[in-house]
Amino acid sequence: MGTMLEAPGVTTLELSCKEGSPSYIPGQFITVYLPELATPEGKAYSIASAPNEPLRITIAKRGEFSQRLCSLQPGDSFRALPAGGYFYSESKTSTLVMLAAGIGIAPYRAIIINTVRNDPERRLMLFYSNRTIADITFHRDLDDLAKAHPNLTVHNFVTREDPLPAGMTHGRMSAETIIHEVGDAPDPEYFICGSIEFVRDLWRGLKTAGVPEDRLYTEAFFGH
Ligand SMILES: Cc1cc2nc3c(=O)[nH]c(=O)nc-3n(C[C@H](O)[C@H](O)[C@H](O)COP(=O)(O)OP(=O)(O)OC[C@H]3O[C@@H](n4cnc5c(N)ncnc54)[C@H](O)[C@@H]3O)c2cc1C
Repeated sequence: MGTMLEAPGVTTLELSCKEGSPSYIPGQFITVYLPELATPEGKAYSIASAPNEPLRITIAKRGEFSQRLCSLQPGDSFRALPAGGYFYSESKTSTLVMLAAGIGIAPYRAIIINTVRNDPERRLMLFYSNRTIADITFHRDLDDLAKAHPNLTVHNFVTREDPLPAGMTHGRMSAETIIHEVGDAPDPEYFICGSIEFVRDLWRGLKTAGVPEDRLYTEAFFGH
């Protein structure tokens, strides 16, 4: 296992799996068990790497479980359940509109890297909200990917810092802004990932704006 600091309080763990590379669909998560902590059901962590990369999860340090994970050292090990979840598109052609807040970016990293590699014509739009610029996880990676792949656009929203460099928006993202930016992109499917409140507000906003429920996918990580 290797570790990398991505942003303040955000650590990536690079994992090697005793049973060989696990198979998964980008967007899925693994369930991690730390038996010394009082969470027998384990906790879920999205796979942040694409299948062609070393297996990675990216963790925001919060309570006991995530702090313990972030403090693991190379050579440490834990048990995990194979990947599961349904946070991925079944379409081959839709525009993927990805809305993230904070550590909610984790599954999109896997989806974006996998899609630009295997399906470079596909339209990808990422809308990413953070409190400050320093909190933007994978900032450099995302900028580089957007520069290299014209079909990927990245819109950063920053809620607690102003002024901002050109191209970033101050304030929270709203369903109206998203719909406006998506414009006439073909066949959009909307993915929402972050805190329960973020997911709930944008789901309601997009539904009210006329997005059908079967075009909305959600992954709620935690409440406040
Ligand atoms: C499907 C799924 C995928 C997930 N993927 C990831 C992932 O890729 N990376 C990741 O870090 N977490 C992910 N989570 C959340 C993860 O499972 C834990 O809930 C999280 O690490 C917090 O656990 P904890 O025991 O450390 O903190 P807790 O003791 O559960 O929480 C401490 C406090 O912080 C709040 N909180 C917890 N995490 C955050 C946060 N990141 N931002 C703001 N407030 C928070 C809690 O509501 C609580 O008030 C995922 C959850 C689900 C359900």
